[in-house]
This record gives sequence, C-alpha cells and structure tokens, in this order.
Amino acid sequence: MLFMRRANKTSQKAHSHVHARNYFGEFDAAVVVDWLNSKRKLPGDPIEKLVELNVQLPIRATEHEIGAFLGRLVRRSKFAVAPVLESAAPGLWRIDWKLVGKMDSEQGLALRKLLHLAEMGLIGRVRKCAKEACGRWFYAKFEHQRFHSKRCQQETFKTSPAWKKQRAEYMKRLRQEKKLRERKWLRGPKRKAGRR
Ligand SMILES: [Zn+2]
Repeated sequence: MLFMRRANKTSQKAHSHVHARNYFGEFDAAVVVDWLNSKRKLPGDPIEKLVELNVQLPIRATEHEIGAFLGRLVRRSKFAVAPVLESAAPGLWRIDWKLVGKMDSEQGLALRKLLHLAEMGLIGRVRKCAKEACGRWFYAKFEHQRFHSKRCQQETFKTSPAWKKQRAEYMKRLRQEKKLRERKWLRGPKRKAGRR
C-alpha cells in the first residue's frame, strides 16, 4: 500500500513537470517571437533560418547542416556568454549570463532562447501564421495550431474552401474523440466502485 502511494506520487510529480516545461517554453518563446516579428530583423536572419532548418529535418536538411550553420554563426559573430556576478549571499550567488560578441543583443538573446526551446523539444512550436497575408510569427500553445489568432483562422476558412474542408474533418475528429472520452468517463467511476 505504501509502495502504491509512493508510485502514485512519483507519477503526479512527473506530470506536473511536463506542465512546468510547457510554461517555460512560452516564457522563452516570447523573446524569440518578438525578435522574429521585429522590424530590425534583416532578410536571411539566422534565427529564422534555424527555425526553417528544423522544419526541413530530416529530409531537406541534415543534422550536419544545422551543426555547420550554427558553427559559422558562432564564429562570425564571436558569440559567447560571460558570467557577471549580480549578488552574493552566503551559499547563494546570482549570476547574470551576459551576451558578448558582435551579435545584436536582442538577436543573441533570441538565439539562446531558441536553442533552449530546441533542447526541450519545443522549437517546432515557433511558427509563422498560416494566413499568407499575415505571416506573423507566434508560439503555438497546441500542436495543431496553425494561425497566430482566431481572426486569421476564421478569415482563411471563410475565403478558402480547402481550408474549410480540412476544418470540417478536424471538427469531426474532435467530436469523435469527445464521444470516446465521454464513454470512458461513464465507464470510469463504475470500474472504481467495483474495485472497492
Ligand atoms: Zn495571423
């Protein structure tokens, strides 16, 4: 019994960890998205290129290609971070990792955050709005999200029959899943009651 309780606690912990990661993802992504939407960003921006390379993996882009691109970027910009002591209480130091080198500071921060997202498996959530006239960069909170706003989504569905069809199929799938969930939910309490 004790063991079971412990096992249960562990799984709850693992679950809350996933949520924490998603939250941090959003936090990092805000900096990346701000840079990608920035007017200061030039054509051929390396941050944008890295996002594109990820989309092209593993067929149109290789791991080696990404490694080489990142290596060139680091050499060219002399990219580095340097620790600066903010404060030092006994046993607890606060360090600010300052960006050094030739890269624009906002661009450099976006690079750091983007790589952090990539390490967490979240780089694919940095996307460009699928409404062509919009093209705004955003962070997808859900895997299926393709538009930066509800408005862009609705306007696209209104004008394009193909999108409309896709949407109808998607909604159908959602309804089926909801039905399945409800059925499971109805069965769930009964099973529990039986065990007791
Ligand atoms: Zn949009």
